[in-house]
Amino acid sequence: MEIRLLFGIFAFCMGAIVGSFLNVVVWRVPRGMSLLRPPSTCPQCGHRIRPWENIPILSWLFLRGKCSSCRQPISWKYPAGEVAVGLLYWAVYWRVVNDGMLPLSTILGWWWFAGAVLSLARIDYEKGVIPNLVTYSGAIAAVILAVVFPYGRPAIAKPKDLNLGSVLSRPVVSCLSGVGQPAVGIRLAAVADALLGILLAVALLGSAYWLGRAMLQAWRKRHRDSDAPREPLGWGDIKMLAMAGAFLGADACVYLLAGGALVGFVVGVVLLARRKKSAGVWSSMPFAPFFAVPALLWVVYGNWFYLLFELFTPQPF
Ligand SMILES: [Zn+2]
Repeated sequence: MEIRLLFGIFAFCMGAIVGSFLNVVVWRVPRGMSLLRPPSTCPQCGHRIRPWENIPILSWLFLRGKCSSCRQPISWKYPAGEVAVGLLYWAVYWRVVNDGMLPLSTILGWWWFAGAVLSLARIDYEKGVIPNLVTYSGAIAAVILAVVFPYGRPAIAKPKDLNLGSVLSRPVVSCLSGVGQPAVGIRLAAVADALLGILLAVALLGSAYWLGRAMLQAWRKRHRDSDAPREPLGWGDIKMLAMAGAFLGADACVYLLAGGALVGFVVGVVLLARRKKSAGVWSSMPFAPFFAVPALLWVVYGNWFYLLFELFTPQPF
């Protein structure tokens, strides 16, 4: 068997195992429960899930989607979540390997990022929150990975690749990578690339937050509209973009924010058009599911902006 296929299967299995853990994260974290205790039980009868009932995807199939004790159905969302992360992990692996220029260590950060973004999208869609546990742990992991595997960051490995977005990070990276010993300079540049991403995310969405809040305040006063929200976006959204900046660098922040807003706008227009009676202009929509579209596209394919550019550029014969 071809070695790449073998590693691809390994990537899928890793993703399915991580997906199984992320199912627990998606359920427990927004409910303020511990990830370690108590052990998983059937929500209907309290039957404790035994190890062989906890094998990703396979156990659900063997049990035919039912609890082994009370025979109540187990949600299809569990195996679906495991398959989704498995496919994502496989796609990230496939992209990095076929790129030829990206080192294998890129996969680690992108795997973490993809799993975190998918979980945030699910949690935000179901509960309307973006837990700090996911965003903070992601940002910290990104900085640690930058120190350990500096070449795992495209800004270091492929500083001139515009498709990966390197307009903003290039000057900083080229300036710092020459400092002192090469090994020290490269690590410094990689960490700076991550911190620059966090800073830009906070600056971009932070200013949008203050501006939007002032505008909403003016609206409330002028139109005596007490239904208008007080905040234009949540702090969780800002932290989510900061995590993306930590993993992917400053340039990615700009493209992912614009991409998420674009997807949100399109979905919003479709929903408004389909709604027969307006249920209020101010109905809030979670941002993470929209943000996940360009964010996951970024790690499995590349910059959505250049993808659009390629799609609408006529190909020469
Ligand atoms: Zn049960």
